[in-house]
Amino acid sequence: MRFKKRNALYMFALLVLSACALCLRLTGLSAQQQLMTSKSRLRETFISLVQIDSGSENEEVIGEFVAREMKTLTDEVTIDEAWRKIGGKAGNVIARFHGNVQSQPLLLNAHLDTVMPTVGIKIVEDGEVIRTDGRTILGADDKAGVAIIIEALRTLRERNLKHPPIEVVFTVREEKGLLGAKAFDMKRLSAKYGLVVDGMDEPSVIITRMPSHEIFEVVIKGKTAHASLEPEKGINAIVTASRAIAKLNWGRIDEESTCNVGVINGGRATNVVADTCTVKGEVRSHDIKKLEAMKELITKVFDEEAKAVGASAKVTFERLYRGFTTSHNSPIVLAVVKALTEMGLQPRLKGVEAGSDASVFSEHGIECIVLPTGAANIHTQNEFVDMRKMHMCAELLVRTIINFATLHQ
Ligand SMILES: [Zn+2]
Repeated sequence: MRFKKRNALYMFALLVLSACALCLRLTGLSAQQQLMTSKSRLRETFISLVQIDSGSENEEVIGEFVAREMKTLTDEVTIDEAWRKIGGKAGNVIARFHGNVQSQPLLLNAHLDTVMPTVGIKIVEDGEVIRTDGRTILGADDKAGVAIIIEALRTLRERNLKHPPIEVVFTVREEKGLLGAKAFDMKRLSAKYGLVVDGMDEPSVIITRMPSHEIFEVVIKGKTAHASLEPEKGINAIVTASRAIAKLNWGRIDEESTCNVGVINGGRATNVVADTCTVKGEVRSHDIKKLEAMKELITKVFDEEAKAVGASAKVTFERLYRGFTTSHNSPIVLAVVKALTEMGLQPRLKGVEAGSDASVFSEHGIECIVLPTGAANIHTQNEFVDMRKMHMCAELLVRTIINFATLHQ
C-alpha cells in the first residue's frame, strides 16, 4: 500500500514535470529562461491604453491614466507643463524609482501620442494577434512601449528584483516632431543611459543608430515680366531653381546619407515670368560631417545658379534632430545583448533611417538604444501586435534593466 502510494506520487510528479517542460518548449525557453513578466496583465494594460483616444495634442487623458498606474508603484510621479511650450493640454509624465542596488540611474521612455485616425477604435483579437477592424490605427506605436514599461516596473516591484534607480519619462507629441521630448527639462534627469521602447516588431532587433535630420527651404527671387511681350526683362525663378535641382544629386547619396527635394512652389500665371520660387527638402545622414557637406553643396549650387542669372537664393536649414550612434561596448548595449542571449535570441544591432525621442535624449548626453515592442505595420490601419512578441519585449526590458544594474555598478 505504502509502495503504491509512493509510486503514484512519483508518477504525478513526473506528469507535472513533463507538463512544465512542454510549456517551456512552447515558449522556446529552457528552465533557466523562465519568463518573469505576465502576458495576461501586459495584454490588459495594452487594451486599456488602446481604448483611450490619444492622437497628438490629445494626450491629457492617457497621461492621467499612466500617472495613476505609476502612482501604484512609486510616490514620485509628476506631469510637467510641456503644453505651455508646445500647446495642447498635456504634459510629459515623469516617475522616479529608487534603486535597490548601487548602480548608475537608468532612463526608460515611451511616447503617449499616436498618429491618426484613432477615433472609435474597435479592437479585433485573433488568437495572439491584436488589431483593429481596419477603420483606424491601433496605436501600438507607442502604446505597446508604454504597456511594456508599466509591466516591467510592476515585475521589478512584485518580485523585488535588483534594479538601478529608474527615471521614467512618458512623452507627449512625439509624432509631431519629438516635441514633448524637446520641451522636457533635461535637468530633471540624472541618468546617462536610456532605454527607449519604441522600435521594431522582432524582440531581437535593437536600434543603436539613428541619423541626423534637417529640413531646408530655398527662396529664389528673380524678376517678373510679361512672358511674351518682353520676356528678356524677366528672370525666371522657376527655371533658376530647376537648374540648381538638376545639378544636385538626390535620393540615396551613400550608404548612410539621403537627400530629397519634396516640395516646389512658384509663379502666378502661364503668361508671367515667375519672380519667386520656393523649394523644400530634407537631408539625413548618420555622419554629421557628410550632412554638413550636403548642406554646403546645396547652398553653394542654388547660390551660384541664382547669381549666374542675376537672381538671389536664400537657403535656410532647420535641424529636426541630431543623430546618434551608441557604441556596442556601451553598458546599455552589453546589458541588452546579455538579456537576449539569456532568452536564447540572437541579438541584431542595427541602425534605422528615422528619429525618435532617443535622438533628443542622446543630444543631451544620454546614451540611448531603442528597444522593440512587438508591433507591426505601424502608422497604418493594418497595424497589429503579436502578444507573444510583445511579451518577449517586456521580458527583454526587465532582463536588460537587471543586467544594467549588475554590469554598471
Ligand atoms: Zn513611435
